[in-house]
Amino acid sequence: MSSIYDKYEAVIGLEVHAQLQTKSKAYSSDKNEYGATPNTNVSVVSLGHPGTLPMMNKESIRFAVKMGLACKSDITEDMIFARKNYFYADLPKGYQITQDKTPICTGGSVEIKDENGEVKHINITRIHLEEDAGKSIHDLDPYNTLIDLNRAGVPLIEIVSEPDIKSSQEAYNYLQEIRKLVRYLDICDGNMEEGSLRCDANVSVRLKGSNELGQRTETKNMNSMRNVQKAIEYEIKRQIDLIEAGEQIHMETRTFDVATGTTKSMRSKEQAHDYRYFPEPDLQPLKVSQEYVGKVKEQMPPLPKELFEKYTSSLSLSDYDANVLTETKEIALYFEEVIKSTENYKAAANWVTVNIKSFLNEQAIEIDDFSVNPKTIAEIIDLIDENKISNSVASQKIFPLIAKGSDQSPIKIAEENNWIQNSDSDAITTYVEQALSKFPDKVEEYKSGKKGLLGLFMGEVMKISGGKADPKAASAKLREILD
Ligand code: ADP
Ligand code: MG
Repeated sequence: MSSIYDKYEAVIGLEVHAQLQTKSKAYSSDKNEYGATPNTNVSVVSLGHPGTLPMMNKESIRFAVKMGLACKSDITEDMIFARKNYFYADLPKGYQITQDKTPICTGGSVEIKDENGEVKHINITRIHLEEDAGKSIHDLDPYNTLIDLNRAGVPLIEIVSEPDIKSSQEAYNYLQEIRKLVRYLDICDGNMEEGSLRCDANVSVRLKGSNELGQRTETKNMNSMRNVQKAIEYEIKRQIDLIEAGEQIHMETRTFDVATGTTKSMRSKEQAHDYRYFPEPDLQPLKVSQEYVGKVKEQMPPLPKELFEKYTSSLSLSDYDANVLTETKEIALYFEEVIKSTENYKAAANWVTVNIKSFLNEQAIEIDDFSVNPKTIAEIIDLIDENKISNSVASQKIFPLIAKGSDQSPIKIAEENNWIQNSDSDAITTYVEQALSKFPDKVEEYKSGKKGLLGLFMGEVMKISGGKADPKAASAKLREILD
């Protein structure tokens, strides 16, 4: 059964603000620090007092260039800054220094997965530098709005996408990709709950097959990716319902209400001319030379997409493994260190994605707090490959000791605990014979066709050997004797 909703398609463009984790603010030496006592990182420059002048933070330029390079954008060579004028209590200067006609990056794209898991490129319109406003706090005092100006002047990049996004799921995937990128690039911590990464969702709907864009609304105030997704879903349905009822969509700014999962109108959408943009007279024009961009390029860290390609092609790992390994830069870099010391990439991937990740989960720690040297993991892998220790001894006995802080080498631990695997054929023969002698009936059953009993015999061999029999050698011996 088709519903009215199937007649329409959604068109979505996202504006993402990322707070740059520089030491100081965008145009002053005030500290850029989250969570400081309110109104302590505020100087006369941040407040825009008469006679003070802003000064450009060089590091924020480098960060914006890194993001531009990661998105394969064009980096603008000559640019100026602009004043965007508006009055708001948390904007002490009465204007925001931003970029208008000459954003630092233009074009480029971000690669995401669409609803069907296919690769899709979301084009980037522009990335520009600007400063954050202070924070208005409405929920601490029942009568007043409180203002914390520590955030006023914190550097931001705003990443504006083309309206290429077709669903709330794609928007979610896009945001995840952006968060991964800024984290890999070390330019923003990507924390939506703390507001370091914020997203405004522009949503419109139109009849499928139409080439014209419908009227859009812009929804703000979403502090998690799930909320962005929910707000978009709500907005799509709301707009279709309105159109079906013969009404018009108004271009407006809406806010998302977490409690009800709905959006509601805040104000009619301001137009660019409302802001009276003009060139910022207190900042010099900025030149970003090709040479400078080249230098930044040389210092670029590996990016998730490149690592994913390397893992799936030259290391022949599965897409699943490659995804888990590249989820965060820290995990990827740890894996990179492991494979510097072993060529068994599949085993290295398993150790990182299974053993190490479950240890981190159990302990509720991040990989940065995981003290085991990646080389040690490679040593364990090699010991298994040399048949010196069994997989189960390695993962259930040796790894936990090392993960909890033992500084002995895996081979030493194995030797001292008598965990070195026995593949010596005389010993194996003895274990096998002992095991079989315990089950004369089962041996008969096996011989008359119940081949599944092999597992029982193997279990007994491992028990008798105290886990030290090399499973491969033991199973070969078992078959040799039985068949
Ligand atoms: P503004 O500051 O007025 O919001 P921006 O250029 O910063 O304008 O951002 C506009 C955003 O809205 C972009 O992400 C763009 O892709 C998106 N957009 C523009 N038109 C539509 C539309 N009809 N439907 C959905 N998104 C749109
Ligand atoms: Mg906007």
